[in-house]
Amino acid sequence: MVIFLGLLALLAWPIFDATTALLIAIAALLLVIHGRRRELKKLLVWLRDPRLETIPDADGAWEDVYTQLARSFKTQRQQANTLSAALQRFQQAGAAVPDGLVILDEHDAIQWCNPAAEAHFGIDLRRDAGHQITYLVRSPSFVLYLSAENHPEPLILRLSRDIDRPEALAVQLVPFGDRDRLLISHDVARIEAVERVRRDFVANVSHELRTPLTVIIGFSETVLDNEELPPSIRRPLGMVMDQAGRMQRLVDDLLALSRLESDDNPLPDETVDAPSLVHRIHEDALALSADRHRVVLAVRSSARLRGSSDELRSAFQNLVTNAIRYTPAGGEIHVSWTDDGEKAIFEVRDTGIGIASQHLNRLTERFYRVDRSRSRETGGTGLGLAIVKHVATRHGARLDIASQVGVGSRFSIVFPSARVIHTADQEVVSGA
Ligand code: ADP
Repeated sequence: MVIFLGLLALLAWPIFDATTALLIAIAALLLVIHGRRRELKKLLVWLRDPRLETIPDADGAWEDVYTQLARSFKTQRQQANTLSAALQRFQQAGAAVPDGLVILDEHDAIQWCNPAAEAHFGIDLRRDAGHQITYLVRSPSFVLYLSAENHPEPLILRLSRDIDRPEALAVQLVPFGDRDRLLISHDVARIEAVERVRRDFVANVSHELRTPLTVIIGFSETVLDNEELPPSIRRPLGMVMDQAGRMQRLVDDLLALSRLESDDNPLPDETVDAPSLVHRIHEDALALSADRHRVVLAVRSSARLRGSSDELRSAFQNLVTNAIRYTPAGGEIHVSWTDDGEKAIFEVRDTGIGIASQHLNRLTERFYRVDRSRSRETGGTGLGLAIVKHVATRHGARLDIASQVGVGSRFSIVFPSARVIHTADQEVVSGA
């Protein structure tokens, strides 16, 4: 049409005059602009409610435009469908997980959670999305856990009993993406209940065994004091005494462990003079070794500790006793107390029999022994390191173990700065 009018204008020029030809050309241009405006209007109307079914018909270049639009519209719709199907599957999977899942942003604000998390923490996602989770879960240990830099271990969170929620949750924070975090919660109320029954049972049995054992040992001692006792009775009675003594040590260790595990036994906040304690431990070690080993003491820190002096004494003593028991005569034992300006470290190093690497991460389990008969021969109960581990954990400390068969072992309890009271430095080194 435009070309036709253009040709008409060119023909009109020699037949009529230039003005007529110009008028025809202007008319042609106006027609073109009008056509474009009409198409644009159609496009704008369609864009207000763009649907594939109502895409306008057109000729020429506009037809290409609408074809392209229809094509990208279809691709977009397919992508949206795939995305929403994936989101739906993810939400279904999240809802099916029996553990609670909460997505938190860097400010601990709730982004999303599954139904289990709603039940665990009392979250109503529609109401609470965008709010900090600490408004709902106010436990100080939880707030502290969220603000910590690393979360290697789950936190056992005890919730109040009057709300319709689990009594105990194990919660773990896992970072992902840029700065988001996934909070996973697991209902451990049943496990805790079973564990409580087990603890109570062991504590009660140990307690009940104490009195008969004291009677057996007491009577045996009295009878053995009789110098006229024939050897045929003295020998078996001596064995009764030995075994009863072993049982008594076992009962004592079981009771010690029960106390450490008990919920109603909070850690005392005493100031423990660690350097003096380490000196006393060294003296005990010298007595126990009875000159069979070289026992070296290095107190390189005057730092004191906040915690329980009884528990710390028992933990330090267990490590030193083990070093002596598992180091053949002629070996060396190094006991040290040091600090790095922040953390303080109690360390026992020996040149004893050592431990193969596959045993190292199981050593602190109750009754785990590398060599059962050797442990028994040396008067072990198999509970010493379990006690050490519990004491360390209660003091927020870490128990590090390094060992090599035939070379020796190193046991270190590393106390965090929060437990350490620093004073002026002093150094005492002594050997035997
Ligand atoms: P036990 O009473 O059997 O010594 P512990 O819990 O104290 O129980 O130690 C667990 C096991 O770890 C021991 O049976 C022993 O095999 C090993 N062990 C502990 N300390 C040492 C050590 N210093 N050198 C070699 N082995 C050790």
